[in-house]
Amino acid sequence: MVKTIKGIAASDGIATAEAYLLVQPDLSFTKKSISDADAEVSRLKDAISTSDDELTKIRDIAKESLGEEEAQVFDAHKMILADPEFTGAVEQEVKDNSVNAEQALHDVSENFISIFEGMTDNPYMQERAADVRDVTKRVMAHLLGVSLPNPALIDHDVVIVAHDLTPSDTAQLNSYVKGFVTDIGGRTAHSAIMARSLELPAVVGTDTITTDVKEGDTVIVDGLNGAAIVDPSDSDIKHYQELAKNFADEKAEWEKLKDEPSVTADGKHFDIAANIGTPDDLQGVIDNGAEGIGLYRTEFLYMQSESLPTEEDQFKAYKKVLEGMNGKPVVVRTMDIGGDKHLPYLPLPEEMNPFLGYRAIRISLDRQEIFRTQLRALLRASAFGKLRIMFPMIGTLQEFRDAKKVFEEEKAKLVKDGVEVSDSIQLGMMMEVPAAAVLADQFAKEVDFFSIGTNDLIQYTMAADRGNEHVSYLYQPYNPSILRLIKHVIESAHKEGKWAGMCGEAAGDNTMLPLLLSMGLDEYSMSATSVLRVRSLMKKLSTKDLATLADRAVNESITNEDNKKLVEEYLNK
Ligand code: PEP
Ligand code: MG
Repeated sequence: MVKTIKGIAASDGIATAEAYLLVQPDLSFTKKSISDADAEVSRLKDAISTSDDELTKIRDIAKESLGEEEAQVFDAHKMILADPEFTGAVEQEVKDNSVNAEQALHDVSENFISIFEGMTDNPYMQERAADVRDVTKRVMAHLLGVSLPNPALIDHDVVIVAHDLTPSDTAQLNSYVKGFVTDIGGRTAHSAIMARSLELPAVVGTDTITTDVKEGDTVIVDGLNGAAIVDPSDSDIKHYQELAKNFADEKAEWEKLKDEPSVTADGKHFDIAANIGTPDDLQGVIDNGAEGIGLYRTEFLYMQSESLPTEEDQFKAYKKVLEGMNGKPVVVRTMDIGGDKHLPYLPLPEEMNPFLGYRAIRISLDRQEIFRTQLRALLRASAFGKLRIMFPMIGTLQEFRDAKKVFEEEKAKLVKDGVEVSDSIQLGMMMEVPAAAVLADQFAKEVDFFSIGTNDLIQYTMAADRGNEHVSYLYQPYNPSILRLIKHVIESAHKEGKWAGMCGEAAGDNTMLPLLLSMGLDEYSMSATSVLRVRSLMKKLSTKDLATLADRAVNESITNEDNKKLVEEYLNK
């Protein structure tokens, strides 16, 4: 029976393949007293040996698809399984306390985790807590007779179906994954952003996909309209093949603009830049003819690492990006950890509201050794290209001043040591906290540029979680209150002779483009795969026609629907 499930279009394109359910099984168990300890120990040994075989397979595949370094994490897991101090302790617990293997495994692993987490002066050992947690989950699943999903083992074309995908789940998807559909999430969740940069069709926020689909069902992901079609008929498949072909034709048209500048119909030039997560994204930036990098999310460097990346590791990554861009500007954002981005080796306190908590510049200013290492790596790399640095989540002028002071201190030290650093690094900030946007006129006197982070600015202004599909009606960039803030930020920058860009997803939104051009936004930074679409639309718009659009949008419109209509009216004039 064909089922069409509506969701939020998160990444363009159409994909058809078998469903692969990436759903965590229930690992709950009850404590039991046992009478035959030997039988229980033998059950435990079986689960350990099956886990070990599975880890060997995963390690081999990960080595091939992701590289030696990524595969090493699985070696660490195998070492725990081979460690008699760990597995021996679980056996002993079964024998001494006559408890079932599940309970013994749980108790021993909790004990190891708390010991490792307590080693605050030894970050390497602290990181082992996450490994113990992972290995325990695998053995527990085998004891309970359920299977853990192993996306690294996928060896045929699939559409991933999941409740949610974390950024690190998304980073592990191999080339057999043709698209994904999730129960929860919004267009600006980091998994959706990564899907766009991987050109993976995606639909999020369907609410029910994990219960509507069975493993192996055929699923069409319609990332253009935000729908998943389960068990499609032959005519559905034909219809979507046509849609996919039209989309490919349209993309071929955009590709002709690859080497053209980004200009409006009346000849005004604006920069269209790309957002990246790692140096590996550089090829996409070049292939799509972006005029710079407007946001390098450096936290992915930290997330893909097993421990805090060293100054040298970071230097190499930043240098590669700067050199790769060949003199075009590169805006690097300092680490933005927290919210939905975690580092297993940097345990942060559990928080009620992680997006409002200890994150981004707040961590950097508090844990200055991490921040200083990053700034030194950036300063050293600055000799190899046109570097701009910005700080995430700046809420007060004091935070910006403090961050700038640390930057100046590290710069002075390097210069004193005779290290070459550029003298023209611009220092800017993300405009994503409403408190800062309201005071943009004051900030503009001290920064070199603003980059408006609408992904967060919208969620904080509208009090609507960016990843919650139930409040997506509030989470809209066209809302007059959001547009007023954006307009104020751009005007404040211009009054002080500074430039303003936008690196939130709204920068690549077709309906936003006329509004932003009307406000005079200088730089538009987006997923690399959106660059040519936006360049193509920009070519059709004239700033003269749009002169009064922004004023009407912020003064006359009441709702975001009013503004969508207003833009359509202008476009159809
Ligand atoms: C933003 O908030 O708009 C932004 C670009 O940052 P991130 O999506 O990484 O939070
Ligand atoms: Mg942000």
